[in-house]
Parts: sequence; structure tokens; C-alpha cells
Amino acid sequence: MRYSALRIAWEALTGHKGWTQAWRDPDPQPAYDYVIIGGGGHGLATAHYLAKVYGKARIAVLEKGWIGGGNVGRNTTIVRSNYLLPGNEPFYEFSLKLWEGLEQDLNYNAMVSQRGIMNLIHSDAQRDAFRRRGNAMILQGSDAELLTTDQVRKEAPFLNFDNARFPIKGALVHRRGGTVRHDAVAWGYARSADQHGVDIIQNCEVTGFCIEEGRIKGVETSRGYIGAGKVGVAVAGNSSRVMAKAGMRLPIESHVLQAFVSEGLKPVLPGVITFGAGHFYVSQSDKGGLVFGGDIDGYNSYAQRGNLPVVEDVAEGGMALMPMLGRARLLRMWGGIMDMSMDGSPFIDRTHIDGLFFNGGWCYGGFKATPASGYAFAHLLATDQPHETAQAYRLDRFLNGHMIDEKGVGAQPNLH
Ligand SMILES: Cc1cc2nc3c(=O)[nH]c(=O)nc-3n(C[C@H](O)[C@H](O)[C@H](O)COP(=O)(O)OP(=O)(O)OC[C@H]3O[C@@H](n4cnc5c(N)ncnc54)[C@H](O)[C@@H]3O)c2cc1C
Repeated sequence: MRYSALRIAWEALTGHKGWTQAWRDPDPQPAYDYVIIGGGGHGLATAHYLAKVYGKARIAVLEKGWIGGGNVGRNTTIVRSNYLLPGNEPFYEFSLKLWEGLEQDLNYNAMVSQRGIMNLIHSDAQRDAFRRRGNAMILQGSDAELLTTDQVRKEAPFLNFDNARFPIKGALVHRRGGTVRHDAVAWGYARSADQHGVDIIQNCEVTGFCIEEGRIKGVETSRGYIGAGKVGVAVAGNSSRVMAKAGMRLPIESHVLQAFVSEGLKPVLPGVITFGAGHFYVSQSDKGGLVFGGDIDGYNSYAQRGNLPVVEDVAEGGMALMPMLGRARLLRMWGGIMDMSMDGSPFIDRTHIDGLFFNGGWCYGGFKATPASGYAFAHLLATDQPHETAQAYRLDRFLNGHMIDEKGVGAQPNLH
């Protein structure tokens, strides 16, 4: 079924009896050409592009819970292409361009909203750094503008400009950045992949790999053995656990990141605002809730819930930036498991096991990467060659010294 305004009008007039299931609920087949492990944004996007762009068939996505139950449905929905390093920026710009055409591609309303991102500047040194980043963005075909304090005041008059510790001295603005409704991304990719013949199999946990003479043959799952020509792993926060079943140890640690949403308020924020002195970012959802977050919890964990010291830290950051936040009531909070890589950048690569491919290390920035990650992973699975925008995302980069140290904090996953 094609979704359209006409279809909505027709269904409204005929009692909404014509809507069909958005995707099937098939039983697993004995074998597939391509098995994607993980029904998050990246796994579902991979299946979509593998079928639609690369024309592949006999594809399954295996998800241990329900699709959208992982980080793709837990993030703060920010998408942007404002990276500094050449290994990263072309990839994220490619992703943003895919976001811009995503709803047409999927025939699904993902509420892509390019309402802009404002990175606030609090010191002269930070202005220099942001100017450099803005120039790098423009050189890679993205957009960037440097605003003065007065220009920021016009767009966001409610900020605390004269904070004694963190006065606001301007901002780097990326107008094409914004937000996308996160769970709609999972649903949209799932629906489209299903329409292209992909089997999306939920409640199917991968418990082991069958590897013979260095080649992948299939996977053991909670629903039995499934044979596979190629296997792509895209399990985000569970990367280390799943790849350990293939005998691999990854340069990744799992950490918790929390998010918060306030009660619904009248429209107040013009777009996404980030606090450059602490770590705090905020946007407003279409329902009116202020959606915000801060740092990871700072210790390794597989629990999808966080601790109170970080709640306090996030609240302090928010209050320093936007004192009116103290008047809003918090509606809910939650946590997700981040696959933090050592240099803060991801991996889309083959492994030493023939036919086994890995996608992970997205830290807390993988939502914006979803379309490009799916596209590049599908490209790698289909052609055995890295996609041109993802060539730097190699697993061996720590061995050969080609780290992509975007934040300049070295091998410190807790600082990325
Ligand atoms: C609070 C929070 C805020 C964030 N904010 C942003 C943001 O604003 N912008 C941004 O770009 N990024 C953000 N992120 C990061 C982003 O959400 C993740 O990097 C990205 O979603 C990870 O990829 P995914 O969607 O494929 O992951 P997931 O949705 O987690 O998908 C992985 C799936 O693998 C499944 N799985 C695990 N093990 C197995 C197994 N053995 N067998 C089968 N299936 C398995 C899991 O159940 C899960 O559904 C945030 C994350 C969190 C938690």
C-alpha cells in the first residue's frame, strides 16, 4: 500500500478499514543469502538499501527483541553534518543528504525537520575552534554560519547570556541540521525493506556463529539455526557481546547514555541548541516536550537505565544555559547502551572471518548516521568493497595509527 494524503482522506471517509499491516511477521527460512543481525536503525537501513539499491534478495534481519526497542527508539533525534575531520565529514554529509530525501524514498513520514543546530560559543578559543570546524564543513559541501552574540540573542532570547562562568559569545549554526522522529525511522525502513522482500524476524536472538575453515556458514538463534551466505552485524551497544561469539575482541566499550523529556510546552526553542561549555543539548519535540541530554554515565554497563549523578549534571548544564528550564516538569527519562569506540568514530568493515561483516562503534552519534551507515554497509556486503564515504572506518586503524580522533581526546571512550 502507498501512503498519501489522498489515502488518508479516503480512509477517514470509509472508517479506516483499508489500512494493511505495515510489515509481515514471517517465520525464519532455513537459509538466506544475507543475514543482518540487529533490527535497529542501522540493520533495517542496511536491509532496505541492500534490496532496493543493490537489488539483492533472500535477506533477513534478525532482532532479539522488537524493532525500534534499541537505541534507534531511545535517542534525542538530532541529525547533523557538522564534523571536522576528512574521515568523518563526507560520510555525515552523505547521511544528511539521504535524510533530506528519506521520506520520499521510504514513502513514510519520518518527520524530518531541518530546524537548525546552534552550537554556542563561550570563549575566544572556542570561537577559533568552531570557525575552523565551520570552514571544514563548508569545504565538504555542508553549511555553516558564525553568529555574533546579538544574532544569537535574536534567535534565542531566553538563554543566559551573562552567566558569570559561561557567557555566550556567539554560535556556530548549521541550518540543515535538525531532528527526525526516531522510531518512525525504524518503522519506515522496516516497511520499505519488507516491501522489497526482506524478512524481518523479531524475537530472534543470535546466540552463536557457525564458522567453518575461516568462513561464516550461518548463525545459531533462539529460533533455531539459520544458514547464511554473508552475515552483517549491526547491534550497537551489544557489539562486544555479539562479536565475542565469533571470537573477536573489539576496540569498543559499552556505556549508558540517558535522555530526558519535559512536559509539553508551547513552541519556545527555534531548533537544537548545544551548550559548548558543559555537555548539554536540547530541542523541542512536535508535541512540545523539551528533549535533552548530556554525558554518558561514565562506567561500563549493559543496563538500559542510568544513574542519578548524571541526572544532576545534565540538570546543572541545562540551568546554566537556560534558567527557565527549572520551571518545566520532567515527564520521563530513559537510557540506552552506547557502543563507544576508542577514538569516538565508527566501524563499517569486513572481519578476518570470510563473509562476516561488522558495523558499530557509533558512540552516541549513530542516529544521524543511520541512512549513510545502512547504505555503506549494504555497499560493503553487496560488493565486498568499502563505500567511498566510509573508507576510513576500518577495524585495523588502531594498529596502523589511522585513528579518527574527532574530539581530540585520544583513546578515551568515556570522553567522546
Ligand atoms: C539517550 C540517547 C540519545 C542519543 N542521541 C542521539 C542523537 O541525538 N543523535 C545521534 O545521532 N545519535 C544519538 N544517539 C545514538 C544512536 O541512537 C545510536 O548510535 C544508534 O541508534 C545505534 O544504531 P542502531 O539504531 O542500529 O541501534 P539499536 O536500535 O540499538 O539496534 C541494535 C539492535 O540489535 C539488537 N540486538 C542486540 N543483540 C542482538 C542479538 N544477539 N541478536 C539479535 N539482535 C540483537 C538490539 O535488540 C537492537 O534492537 C543516542 C543514543 C541514546 C541512547
